[in-house]
Amino acid sequence: MLPFPSTAAALPRLRLPPLPIPLRHYPFPLPLLLLRGASSSTHHHPRLLPQAASLPPPPPDALLPSQATGLVAASQANFMRVIVDAVPPGHDLERHRGSDLLCVVRALLKKIRRRVLVGDRVLVGAVDWADRRGMIEDVFERRTEVADPPVANVDRLVVLFSLDQPKPEPAMLTRFLVEAESTGIPFVLVFNKVELVDEQTIAYWRDRLKSWGYDPLFLSVDQQSGFSALEEMLKGQTTVVVGPSGVGKSSLINALRCYQDISEEDPIHKLVEQNSKWFGEQRVGTVSKKSGKGKHTTRHVSLLPIAGGGFLADTPGFNQPSLMKVTKKSLAETFPEIRKMLKENEPSKCLFNDCVHLGEHGCVVKGDWERYPYYLQMLDEIKIREEIQLRTFGTKREGDVRYKTGVMGVKQAEPRLELKKHRRVSRKKINQSILDEIDDDLDDLDDDYLFDVKQRSRKR
Ligand code: GDP
Ligand code: ZN
Repeated sequence: MLPFPSTAAALPRLRLPPLPIPLRHYPFPLPLLLLRGASSSTHHHPRLLPQAASLPPPPPDALLPSQATGLVAASQANFMRVIVDAVPPGHDLERHRGSDLLCVVRALLKKIRRRVLVGDRVLVGAVDWADRRGMIEDVFERRTEVADPPVANVDRLVVLFSLDQPKPEPAMLTRFLVEAESTGIPFVLVFNKVELVDEQTIAYWRDRLKSWGYDPLFLSVDQQSGFSALEEMLKGQTTVVVGPSGVGKSSLINALRCYQDISEEDPIHKLVEQNSKWFGEQRVGTVSKKSGKGKHTTRHVSLLPIAGGGFLADTPGFNQPSLMKVTKKSLAETFPEIRKMLKENEPSKCLFNDCVHLGEHGCVVKGDWERYPYYLQMLDEIKIREEIQLRTFGTKREGDVRYKTGVMGVKQAEPRLELKKHRRVSRKKINQSILDEIDDDLDDLDDDYLFDVKQRSRKR
Protein backbone atom coordinates (compact mmCIF):
# COMPACT_ATOMS: atom_id res chain seq x y z
CA MET A 1 0.00 0.00 0.00
CA LEU A 2 1.09 3.57 -0.42
CA PRO A 3 2.91 5.30 2.40
CA PHE A 4 0.17 7.56 3.78
CA PRO A 5 -0.27 6.40 7.33
CA SER A 6 -2.44 9.33 8.38
CA THR A 7 -4.77 9.31 5.43
CA ALA A 8 -4.93 5.65 4.63
CA ALA A 9 -7.48 5.14 7.34
CA ALA A 10 -9.68 7.87 5.96
CA LEU A 11 -9.57 6.51 2.46
CA PRO A 12 -11.83 3.78 1.32
CA ARG A 13 -9.60 0.85 0.56
CA LEU A 14 -9.47 1.21 -3.17
CA ARG A 15 -6.80 0.33 -5.58
CA LEU A 16 -8.17 2.53 -8.29
CA PRO A 17 -6.04 5.14 -10.06
CA PRO A 18 -4.20 7.49 -7.69
CA LEU A 19 -6.40 9.84 -5.66
CA PRO A 20 -9.65 7.93 -5.98
CA ILE A 21 -11.66 10.77 -4.46
CA PRO A 22 -11.29 14.40 -5.49
CA LEU A 23 -8.89 15.93 -3.04
CA ARG A 24 -11.14 18.79 -2.15
CA HIS A 25 -13.49 16.36 -0.49
CA TYR A 26 -10.87 15.96 2.19
CA PRO A 27 -10.63 18.32 5.10
CA PHE A 28 -7.90 20.89 4.56
CA PRO A 29 -5.03 21.37 5.10
CA LEU A 30 -4.07 18.39 3.07
CA PRO A 31 -1.39 16.15 4.46
CA LEU A 32 1.72 16.85 2.43
CA LEU A 33 2.41 13.16 2.20
CA LEU A 34 -0.71 12.61 0.23
CA LEU A 35 0.34 15.21 -2.28
CA ARG A 36 3.81 13.80 -2.59
CA GLY A 37 2.53 10.26 -2.81
CA ALA A 38 0.28 11.19 -5.66
CA SER A 39 3.17 12.40 -7.73
CA SER A 40 5.70 9.81 -6.69
CA SER A 41 6.34 8.44 -10.15
CA THR A 42 8.01 11.53 -11.58
CA HIS A 43 10.64 13.95 -10.38
CA HIS A 44 9.31 17.29 -9.37
CA HIS A 45 10.72 20.58 -8.50
CA PRO A 46 11.14 20.90 -4.74
CA ARG A 47 9.01 24.05 -4.72
CA LEU A 48 6.02 22.03 -5.74
CA LEU A 49 2.72 21.94 -3.97
CA PRO A 50 1.46 23.48 -1.86
CA GLN A 51 3.65 26.58 -1.60
CA ALA A 52 4.34 27.42 -5.24
CA ALA A 53 1.25 29.55 -5.63
CA SER A 54 2.85 32.19 -3.43
CA LEU A 55 6.32 32.01 -4.94
CA PRO A 56 7.89 33.54 -8.03
CA PRO A 57 9.28 31.13 -10.65
CA PRO A 58 12.51 29.45 -9.50
CA PRO A 59 15.90 30.32 -11.01
CA PRO A 60 16.69 28.29 -14.16
CA ASP A 61 19.42 26.29 -12.44
CA ALA A 62 16.83 24.81 -10.10
CA LEU A 63 15.07 23.17 -13.04
CA LEU A 64 15.50 19.57 -14.13
CA PRO A 65 16.37 18.83 -17.78
CA SER A 66 12.78 17.80 -18.39
CA GLN A 67 11.43 21.02 -16.88
CA ALA A 68 10.93 24.60 -17.97
CA THR A 69 9.05 27.63 -16.78
CA GLY A 70 6.85 29.68 -19.02
CA LEU A 71 3.82 31.87 -19.62
CA VAL A 72 0.42 30.44 -20.46
CA ALA A 73 -0.52 32.28 -23.65
CA ALA A 74 -3.69 30.46 -24.60
CA SER A 75 -6.04 27.79 -23.41
CA GLN A 76 -8.37 25.57 -25.28
CA ALA A 77 -10.32 22.88 -23.50
CA ASN A 78 -7.71 20.89 -21.62
CA PHE A 79 -4.77 22.19 -23.58
CA MET A 80 -2.64 25.20 -22.85
CA ARG A 81 -0.05 26.86 -24.96
CA VAL A 82 2.97 27.82 -22.90
CA ILE A 83 5.73 30.12 -24.09
CA VAL A 84 8.99 28.94 -22.55
CA ASP A 85 10.81 31.66 -20.66
CA ALA A 86 13.44 29.65 -18.80
CA VAL A 87 15.17 26.31 -19.36
CA PRO A 88 17.75 24.58 -17.17
CA PRO A 89 21.27 25.72 -18.15
CA GLY A 90 23.88 23.35 -19.54
CA HIS A 91 21.72 20.92 -21.47
CA ASP A 92 21.83 22.63 -24.83
CA LEU A 93 18.24 23.73 -24.35
CA GLU A 94 18.73 27.49 -24.67
CA ARG A 95 17.36 27.47 -28.21
CA HIS A 96 13.99 26.45 -26.84
CA ARG A 97 13.53 29.67 -24.95
CA GLY A 98 10.68 31.58 -26.53
CA SER A 99 9.27 28.49 -28.18
CA ASP A 100 5.82 27.12 -27.54
CA LEU A 101 4.88 23.97 -25.74
CA LEU A 102 1.48 22.37 -26.04
CA CYS A 103 0.64 21.34 -22.51
CA VAL A 104 -1.95 19.51 -20.53
CA VAL A 105 -2.56 20.38 -16.90
CA ARG A 106 -1.56 17.86 -14.31
CA ALA A 107 -4.70 16.25 -12.91
CA LEU A 108 -3.61 16.88 -9.36
CA LEU A 109 -3.73 20.64 -9.89
CA LYS A 110 -7.35 20.37 -10.90
CA LYS A 111 -8.10 18.18 -7.95
CA ILE A 112 -6.79 20.69 -5.48
CA ARG A 113 -8.54 23.40 -7.49
CA ARG A 114 -5.40 25.21 -8.40
CA ARG A 115 -6.62 26.79 -11.58
CA VAL A 116 -4.30 27.59 -14.42
CA LEU A 117 -5.27 30.79 -16.19
CA VAL A 118 -3.98 32.37 -19.32
CA GLY A 119 -1.33 34.81 -18.12
CA ASP A 120 -0.08 32.51 -15.38
CA ARG A 121 3.59 31.68 -14.94
CA VAL A 122 3.88 27.93 -14.73
CA LEU A 123 6.26 25.06 -14.17
CA VAL A 124 6.20 22.63 -17.07
CA GLY A 125 7.46 19.11 -16.51
CA ALA A 126 7.89 15.96 -18.56
CA VAL A 127 8.88 18.17 -21.48
CA ASP A 128 9.35 16.45 -24.80
CA TRP A 129 11.54 19.00 -26.53
CA ALA A 130 11.30 17.34 -29.92
CA ASP A 131 7.51 17.14 -29.94
CA ARG A 132 7.14 20.39 -28.01
CA ARG A 133 4.80 18.95 -25.46
CA GLY A 134 4.72 19.01 -21.71
CA MET A 135 2.62 18.97 -18.61
CA ILE A 136 1.87 21.97 -16.42
CA GLU A 137 2.90 20.85 -12.97
CA ASP A 138 2.46 23.99 -10.97
CA VAL A 139 1.41 27.63 -11.02
CA PHE A 140 3.53 30.37 -9.53
CA GLU A 141 2.53 33.52 -7.71
CA ARG A 142 -0.33 35.37 -9.38
CA ARG A 143 -0.17 39.15 -9.02
CA THR A 144 -3.60 39.99 -10.34
CA GLU A 145 -6.60 38.21 -11.67
CA VAL A 146 -9.30 39.40 -14.01
CA ALA A 147 -12.49 37.37 -14.09
CA ASP A 148 -13.90 38.44 -17.42
CA PRO A 149 -12.05 37.41 -19.48
CA PRO A 150 -10.19 35.07 -17.14
CA VAL A 151 -6.59 36.29 -17.31
CA ALA A 152 -3.92 36.25 -14.62
CA ASN A 153 -1.21 38.85 -14.08
CA VAL A 154 -2.92 41.63 -16.01
CA ASP A 155 -0.90 44.85 -15.65
CA ARG A 156 -3.39 47.27 -17.10
CA LEU A 157 -6.96 47.68 -18.20
CA VAL A 158 -8.02 49.88 -21.07
CA VAL A 159 -11.52 51.18 -20.32
CA LEU A 160 -12.84 51.99 -23.77
CA PHE A 161 -15.77 54.23 -24.62
CA SER A 162 -16.67 56.06 -27.83
CA LEU A 163 -17.53 59.72 -28.26
CA ASP A 164 -20.37 58.85 -30.61
CA GLN A 165 -22.19 55.74 -31.80
CA PRO A 166 -22.72 55.13 -28.93
CA LYS A 167 -22.28 58.41 -27.04
CA PRO A 168 -20.74 58.24 -23.59
CA GLU A 169 -23.34 57.94 -20.87
CA PRO A 170 -22.22 59.25 -17.46
CA ALA A 171 -23.99 56.56 -15.43
CA MET A 172 -22.57 53.76 -17.57
CA LEU A 173 -19.17 55.40 -17.64
CA THR A 174 -19.20 55.64 -13.86
CA ARG A 175 -20.15 52.01 -13.52
CA PHE A 176 -17.25 50.90 -15.68
CA LEU A 177 -14.85 53.19 -13.87
CA VAL A 178 -15.96 51.86 -10.48
CA GLU A 179 -15.62 48.29 -11.71
CA ALA A 180 -12.17 49.01 -13.10
CA GLU A 181 -11.08 50.70 -9.86
CA SER A 182 -12.32 47.73 -7.87
CA THR A 183 -10.00 45.30 -9.67
CA GLY A 184 -6.98 46.99 -8.16
CA ILE A 185 -5.33 46.99 -11.59
CA PRO A 186 -4.10 50.29 -13.04
CA PHE A 187 -6.23 51.41 -15.96
CA VAL A 188 -6.44 54.07 -18.61
CA LEU A 189 -9.69 55.54 -19.91
CA VAL A 190 -9.77 55.86 -23.69
CA PHE A 191 -12.36 57.50 -25.92
CA ASN A 192 -12.63 56.13 -29.44
CA LYS A 193 -14.24 57.46 -32.62
CA VAL A 194 -12.93 61.00 -32.19
CA GLU A 195 -13.37 61.63 -35.91
CA LEU A 196 -17.15 61.56 -35.46
CA VAL A 197 -17.22 64.64 -33.22
CA ASP A 198 -15.85 68.19 -33.24
CA GLU A 199 -13.05 69.65 -31.16
CA GLN A 200 -15.51 71.16 -28.69
CA THR A 201 -17.00 67.79 -27.87
CA ILE A 202 -13.57 66.36 -27.23
CA ALA A 203 -12.70 69.30 -24.98
CA TYR A 204 -16.02 68.93 -23.20
CA TRP A 205 -15.39 65.30 -22.30
CA ARG A 206 -11.78 65.99 -21.41
CA ASP A 207 -12.85 68.66 -18.92
CA ARG A 208 -15.74 66.68 -17.58
CA LEU A 209 -13.60 63.62 -16.93
CA LYS A 210 -10.94 65.83 -15.41
CA SER A 211 -13.46 67.01 -12.84
CA TRP A 212 -14.11 63.35 -12.03
CA GLY A 213 -10.40 62.79 -11.51
CA TYR A 214 -9.45 61.14 -14.80
CA ASP A 215 -7.23 62.05 -17.70
CA PRO A 216 -8.52 60.16 -20.74
CA LEU A 217 -6.85 59.49 -24.06
CA PHE A 218 -8.67 60.21 -27.33
CA LEU A 219 -8.19 58.26 -30.53
CA SER A 220 -9.80 56.87 -33.64
CA VAL A 221 -9.30 53.25 -34.51
CA ASP A 222 -10.82 53.86 -37.96
CA GLN A 223 -8.46 56.71 -38.78
CA GLN A 224 -5.53 55.08 -36.98
CA SER A 225 -4.98 58.34 -35.14
CA GLY A 226 -3.95 59.04 -31.58
CA PHE A 227 -2.40 55.63 -31.01
CA SER A 228 1.10 56.52 -29.93
CA ALA A 229 0.33 57.56 -26.35
CA LEU A 230 -1.64 54.38 -25.78
CA GLU A 231 0.96 52.13 -27.39
CA GLU A 232 3.64 53.72 -25.28
CA MET A 233 1.61 53.03 -22.17
CA LEU A 234 0.99 49.37 -22.98
CA LYS A 235 4.57 48.49 -23.85
CA GLY A 236 5.84 45.42 -22.07
CA GLN A 237 2.58 44.92 -20.18
CA THR A 238 -0.28 42.50 -20.26
CA THR A 239 -3.46 44.39 -21.07
CA VAL A 240 -7.18 43.69 -21.18
CA VAL A 241 -9.60 45.97 -23.00
CA VAL A 242 -12.97 46.49 -21.30
CA GLY A 243 -16.00 48.58 -22.16
CA PRO A 244 -19.62 48.49 -23.32
CA SER A 245 -20.54 46.98 -26.67
CA GLY A 246 -20.15 48.88 -29.90
CA VAL A 247 -17.41 51.26 -28.75
CA GLY A 248 -14.73 49.54 -30.82
CA LYS A 249 -13.04 47.10 -28.44
CA SER A 250 -12.54 44.38 -31.02
CA SER A 251 -11.41 46.96 -33.55
CA LEU A 252 -8.89 48.35 -31.08
CA ILE A 253 -7.55 44.90 -30.22
CA ASN A 254 -7.05 44.16 -33.89
CA ALA A 255 -5.34 47.49 -34.44
CA LEU A 256 -2.97 47.05 -31.50
CA ARG A 257 -1.88 43.46 -32.08
CA CYS A 258 1.18 43.16 -34.18
CA TYR A 259 0.99 41.03 -37.27
CA GLN A 260 4.29 42.12 -38.77
CA ASP A 261 7.43 43.82 -37.59
CA ILE A 262 7.89 41.44 -34.75
CA SER A 263 11.03 42.53 -33.01
CA GLU A 264 14.05 40.36 -33.83
CA GLU A 265 15.36 40.39 -30.29
CA ASP A 266 12.31 38.84 -28.82
CA PRO A 267 11.79 35.32 -30.09
CA ILE A 268 8.76 34.92 -27.86
CA HIS A 269 6.70 37.24 -30.00
CA LYS A 270 7.79 35.65 -33.19
CA LEU A 271 6.77 32.24 -32.00
CA VAL A 272 3.48 33.33 -30.59
CA GLU A 273 2.73 34.93 -33.90
CA GLN A 274 3.74 31.87 -35.88
CA ASN A 275 1.59 29.70 -33.72
CA SER A 276 -1.33 32.01 -33.22
CA LYS A 277 -3.43 29.60 -35.25
CA TRP A 278 -3.03 26.92 -32.67
CA PHE A 279 -6.11 27.96 -30.83
CA GLY A 280 -7.46 30.93 -32.67
CA GLU A 281 -9.47 29.05 -35.23
CA GLN A 282 -11.47 26.85 -32.93
CA ARG A 283 -12.66 29.89 -31.06
CA VAL A 284 -14.82 31.01 -33.95
CA GLY A 285 -16.75 27.76 -33.82
CA THR A 286 -17.42 27.98 -30.12
CA VAL A 287 -18.62 31.58 -30.31
CA SER A 288 -21.39 30.97 -32.78
CA LYS A 289 -22.92 28.01 -30.99
CA LYS A 290 -24.21 29.80 -27.96
CA SER A 291 -25.60 33.02 -29.40
CA GLY A 292 -22.14 34.51 -29.46
CA LYS A 293 -21.98 34.57 -25.69
CA GLY A 294 -21.82 32.16 -22.81
CA LYS A 295 -19.01 30.40 -21.10
CA HIS A 296 -17.41 28.93 -24.13
CA THR A 297 -16.45 32.30 -25.51
CA THR A 298 -14.77 33.60 -22.40
CA ARG A 299 -12.89 30.45 -21.69
CA HIS A 300 -10.66 30.41 -24.71
CA VAL A 301 -8.85 33.66 -24.23
CA SER A 302 -5.44 34.09 -25.82
CA LEU A 303 -2.71 36.63 -25.29
CA LEU A 304 -1.69 38.41 -28.46
CA PRO A 305 1.73 39.99 -28.80
CA ILE A 306 1.68 43.76 -29.24
CA ALA A 307 4.16 46.15 -30.78
CA GLY A 308 7.00 47.07 -28.44
CA GLY A 309 6.57 43.90 -26.41
CA GLY A 310 3.77 42.93 -24.10
CA PHE A 311 0.49 41.16 -24.58
CA LEU A 312 -3.12 41.98 -25.20
CA ALA A 313 -5.99 39.63 -24.40
CA ASP A 314 -7.84 38.82 -27.59
CA THR A 315 -11.17 38.85 -25.76
CA PRO A 316 -12.58 42.10 -24.37
CA GLY A 317 -13.90 42.16 -20.82
CA PHE A 318 -16.78 43.10 -18.55
CA ASN A 319 -19.57 44.11 -20.85
CA GLN A 320 -21.76 44.51 -17.82
CA PRO A 321 -19.94 45.50 -14.67
CA SER A 322 -21.28 43.41 -11.80
CA LEU A 323 -19.66 45.48 -9.01
CA MET A 324 -19.23 42.20 -7.17
CA LYS A 325 -15.89 43.24 -5.75
CA VAL A 326 -17.22 46.52 -4.40
CA THR A 327 -18.49 46.76 -0.85
CA LYS A 328 -20.52 49.43 0.90
CA LYS A 329 -17.33 50.61 2.48
CA SER A 330 -14.97 50.31 -0.49
CA LEU A 331 -17.33 52.06 -2.93
CA ALA A 332 -16.21 55.49 -1.71
CA GLU A 333 -12.62 54.61 -2.49
CA THR A 334 -13.49 53.92 -6.12
CA PHE A 335 -14.48 57.58 -6.59
CA PRO A 336 -11.49 59.90 -7.09
CA GLU A 337 -13.69 62.83 -6.00
CA ILE A 338 -14.24 61.29 -2.56
CA ARG A 339 -10.62 60.27 -2.21
CA LYS A 340 -9.68 63.87 -2.93
CA MET A 341 -12.12 65.31 -0.38
CA LEU A 342 -10.93 62.92 2.29
CA LYS A 343 -7.34 63.78 1.57
CA GLU A 344 -7.91 67.52 1.54
CA ASN A 345 -9.56 67.32 4.93
CA GLU A 346 -6.73 65.43 6.57
CA PRO A 347 -6.02 65.17 9.39
CA SER A 348 -9.70 65.60 10.21
CA LYS A 349 -11.89 62.70 9.27
CA CYS A 350 -15.52 61.72 9.19
CA LEU A 351 -16.94 61.45 12.70
CA PHE A 352 -17.75 57.78 12.27
CA ASN A 353 -15.12 55.34 11.20
CA ASP A 354 -17.42 53.39 8.94
CA CYS A 355 -18.98 56.50 7.41
CA VAL A 356 -20.44 55.82 3.98
CA HIS A 357 -20.57 59.56 3.30
CA LEU A 358 -24.22 60.41 3.10
CA GLY A 359 -23.34 63.97 4.05
CA GLU A 360 -24.64 63.73 7.61
CA HIS A 361 -23.29 65.77 10.44
CA GLY A 362 -19.64 64.96 10.96
CA CYS A 363 -19.03 63.72 7.40
CA VAL A 364 -16.27 65.52 5.50
CA VAL A 365 -17.60 64.44 2.11
CA LYS A 366 -19.84 67.12 0.69
CA GLY A 367 -22.53 66.47 -1.87
CA ASP A 368 -21.76 69.22 -4.37
CA TRP A 369 -20.11 67.14 -7.08
CA GLU A 370 -21.45 65.80 -10.34
CA ARG A 371 -21.31 62.10 -9.69
CA TYR A 372 -22.70 62.17 -6.16
CA PRO A 373 -26.13 60.89 -7.30
CA TYR A 374 -24.43 57.92 -9.01
CA TYR A 375 -22.49 57.24 -5.85
CA LEU A 376 -25.71 57.14 -3.84
CA GLN A 377 -27.44 54.91 -6.40
CA MET A 378 -24.60 52.44 -6.44
CA LEU A 379 -24.39 52.50 -2.67
CA ASP A 380 -28.05 51.48 -2.51
CA GLU A 381 -27.51 48.71 -4.98
CA ILE A 382 -24.53 47.37 -3.06
CA LYS A 383 -26.34 47.62 0.27
CA ILE A 384 -29.14 45.48 -1.07
CA ARG A 385 -26.73 42.95 -2.46
CA GLU A 386 -24.80 42.80 0.80
CA GLU A 387 -27.98 42.23 2.77
CA ILE A 388 -28.93 39.37 0.50
CA GLN A 389 -25.43 37.96 0.80
CA LEU A 390 -25.55 38.29 4.55
CA ARG A 391 -28.81 36.40 4.69
CA THR A 392 -27.65 33.77 2.26
CA PHE A 393 -24.10 33.18 3.36
CA GLY A 394 -24.03 34.79 6.77
CA THR A 395 -20.93 36.72 5.84
CA LYS A 396 -19.84 39.94 4.22
CA ARG A 397 -16.97 40.42 1.89
CA GLU A 398 -14.12 42.68 2.88
CA GLY A 399 -12.95 45.57 0.81
CA ASP A 400 -9.65 44.27 -0.43
CA VAL A 401 -7.99 47.14 -2.15
CA ARG A 402 -6.05 50.15 -1.05
CA TYR A 403 -5.08 53.17 -3.06
CA LYS A 404 -1.92 54.67 -4.36
CA THR A 405 -1.12 57.41 -6.79
CA GLY A 406 -0.65 55.79 -10.13
CA VAL A 407 -0.19 56.76 -13.72
CA MET A 408 -0.75 60.38 -14.61
CA GLY A 409 -1.28 61.28 -11.01
CA VAL A 410 -4.53 59.38 -10.95
CA LYS A 411 -5.14 57.44 -7.83
CA GLN A 412 -5.18 53.77 -8.47
CA ALA A 413 -6.34 50.87 -6.45
CA GLU A 414 -3.92 48.11 -5.63
CA PRO A 415 -4.29 44.87 -3.79
CA ARG A 416 -3.91 45.17 -0.05
CA LEU A 417 -0.91 42.97 0.26
CA GLU A 418 -0.53 42.96 3.99
CA LEU A 419 -3.88 41.29 4.30
CA LYS A 420 -2.82 38.48 2.07
CA LYS A 421 -3.81 35.62 4.25
CA HIS A 422 -7.13 37.01 5.18
CA ARG A 423 -7.62 38.17 1.66
CA ARG A 424 -7.09 34.80 0.21
CA VAL A 425 -9.90 33.46 2.28
CA SER A 426 -12.36 36.18 1.46
CA ARG A 427 -11.23 36.31 -2.12
CA LYS A 428 -11.88 32.68 -2.49
CA LYS A 429 -15.46 33.34 -1.59
CA ILE A 430 -15.73 36.42 -3.74
CA ASN A 431 -14.26 34.82 -6.75
CA GLN A 432 -16.18 31.68 -6.33
CA SER A 433 -18.70 32.86 -8.83
CA ILE A 434 -15.97 33.97 -11.16
CA LEU A 435 -14.36 30.64 -11.60
CA ASP A 436 -17.39 28.56 -10.87
CA GLU A 437 -18.25 28.63 -14.49
CA ILE A 438 -14.92 27.15 -15.34
CA ASP A 439 -15.27 24.73 -12.47
CA ASP A 440 -18.57 23.42 -13.67
CA ASP A 441 -17.13 21.14 -16.28
CA LEU A 442 -14.49 19.85 -13.94
CA ASP A 443 -17.05 19.37 -11.22
CA ASP A 444 -19.16 17.29 -13.50
CA LEU A 445 -16.15 15.20 -14.25
CA ASP A 446 -15.20 14.90 -10.61
CA ASP A 447 -18.71 14.07 -9.55
CA ASP A 448 -19.06 11.38 -12.14
CA TYR A 449 -15.79 10.02 -10.99
CA LEU A 450 -16.80 10.14 -7.35
CA PHE A 451 -20.07 8.44 -8.17
CA ASP A 452 -18.17 5.79 -10.03
CA VAL A 453 -15.81 5.29 -7.13
CA LYS A 454 -18.68 4.99 -4.67
CA GLN A 455 -20.39 2.46 -6.85
CA ARG A 456 -17.29 0.38 -7.05
CA SER A 457 -16.58 0.51 -3.36
CA ARG A 458 -20.14 -0.54 -2.61
CA LYS A 459 -19.72 -3.61 -4.72
CA ARG A 460 -16.86 -4.85 -2.58
P1 GDP B 1 -17.00 46.31 -29.69
O1 GDP B 1 -18.41 45.83 -29.58
O2 GDP B 1 -16.66 47.25 -28.59
O3 GDP B 1 -16.01 45.21 -29.82
O4 GDP B 1 -16.94 47.20 -31.00
P2 GDP B 1 -16.43 46.81 -32.47
O5 GDP B 1 -14.95 46.78 -32.54
O6 GDP B 1 -17.19 45.62 -32.93
O7 GDP B 1 -16.91 48.10 -33.26
C1 GDP B 1 -18.25 48.50 -33.31
C2 GDP B 1 -18.46 49.36 -34.52
O8 GDP B 1 -17.73 50.57 -34.37
C3 GDP B 1 -17.95 48.69 -35.80
O9 GDP B 1 -18.87 48.96 -36.81
C4 GDP B 1 -16.64 49.40 -36.07
O10 GDP B 1 -16.32 49.44 -37.43
C5 GDP B 1 -16.92 50.77 -35.52
N1 GDP B 1 -15.71 51.53 -35.14
C6 GDP B 1 -14.64 51.08 -34.47
N2 GDP B 1 -13.74 52.05 -34.33
C7 GDP B 1 -14.23 53.14 -34.91
C8 GDP B 1 -13.76 54.49 -35.11
O11 GDP B 1 -12.68 54.88 -34.70
N3 GDP B 1 -14.61 55.32 -35.76
C9 GDP B 1 -15.82 54.93 -36.24
N4 GDP B 1 -16.55 55.83 -36.89
N5 GDP B 1 -16.28 53.69 -36.09
C10 GDP B 1 -15.50 52.81 -35.45
ZN1 ZN C 1 -18.19 60.61 5.61
